[in-house]
Amino acid sequence: MNILVIAEHDNRILKPSTLNTAAAAQKISANVDLLVAGSKIDSIVQAAASIEGLERVLYADHSALGQNLAEPLAELIATLGKGYTHILAPASAFGKNCLPRVAALLNVGQLSDIIAIESPDTFIRPIYAGNALATIKSSDPIKVITIRTTAFSSAQKGNKTAPIEKISPSLSITELSSFVERIEIPSERPELTTAKVVVSGGRALGSKENFALVEQLADKLKAAIGASRAAVDAGFAPNDYQVGQTGKVVAPDLYIALGISGAIQHLAGMKDSKVIVAINKDEEAPIFQVADYGLVGDIFELVPQLINALDIAKGNP
Ligand SMILES: Cc1cc2nc3c(=O)[nH]c(=O)nc-3n(C[C@H](O)[C@H](O)[C@H](O)COP(=O)(O)OP(=O)(O)OC[C@H]3O[C@@H](n4cnc5c(N)ncnc54)[C@H](O)[C@@H]3O)c2cc1C
Repeated sequence: MNILVIAEHDNRILKPSTLNTAAAAQKISANVDLLVAGSKIDSIVQAAASIEGLERVLYADHSALGQNLAEPLAELIATLGKGYTHILAPASAFGKNCLPRVAALLNVGQLSDIIAIESPDTFIRPIYAGNALATIKSSDPIKVITIRTTAFSSAQKGNKTAPIEKISPSLSITELSSFVERIEIPSERPELTTAKVVVSGGRALGSKENFALVEQLADKLKAAIGASRAAVDAGFAPNDYQVGQTGKVVAPDLYIALGISGAIQHLAGMKDSKVIVAINKDEEAPIFQVADYGLVGDIFELVPQLINALDIAKGNP
């Protein structure tokens, strides 16, 4: 068995999701290669090579791969992937965009959002918004898998570096899509999916202006910000804050839900958090069924009190 892991990066840094995916791969076999695809990303390749336990790092440097467009990347992976038994990528927007195309090009099924590996051909994944777990066995010759990164620990980085092999891909799928523009909101906050603390706001916030309350608490705790879909749909928070079945899956040490009811689609994205704190004025709200600490009351009264208490605890009343 030999495994190809696809590195996720943003042309600046290697994303931590790559380390979780490498750790998942190492549970299947010790023969793990890592593909880093992009254009002139030598420092990312160097960082990738320090991941422990890799056989090789394959560095595909091509201008058509410079913006992480799924179409040329999928062609590259499908071509290389014919020499592997498993192809793994994180179940992030990056992996979800790319791997189904790879599976289609290789004419195999995709195994999505895997949370446990039973054996090289048998995997566990959540279904029905996390309310049931399916054990699935694949007889495909090449298993194309996305990994739920919060379910696997990180592969370690060491002093020894894996050998780097530069490959020169010839790509034919370069016309299907083209890069137009990237709009990024610069932020000092930790990234939502890897943050240790997440503060999320729901419909109860009532407006974009009021959503600042979530930001104030997050600032005190150096936390990432999340939101329910209702808050995102109402325009209180940007789309990439959404936590849940159709948003991001998070499992921080501390998840604070402010004015979120706890619909199953929201719980699907955060119920594996280590400690869950919920503030909701409805004591019957389903979020309290998963919360370790629940506060029944109005967020507009309780959150400012919490912020003050944190200030006092830090010695700046
Ligand atoms: C296919 C599908 C996918 C979905 N995917 C997602 C997803 O990824 N993520 C997601 O979040 N949702 C998702 N949803 C939507 C989900 O079903 C819920 O509608 C949504 O999560 C509700 O958001 P909410 O809790 O903010 O709002 P509500 O359900 O309206 O809850 C608001 C809560 O705030 C409380 N409240 C009101 N005012 C105050 C106050 N002043 N102080 C304290 N508490 C107050 C209320 O008691 C209530 O419990 C999906 C739905 C579908 C059908």
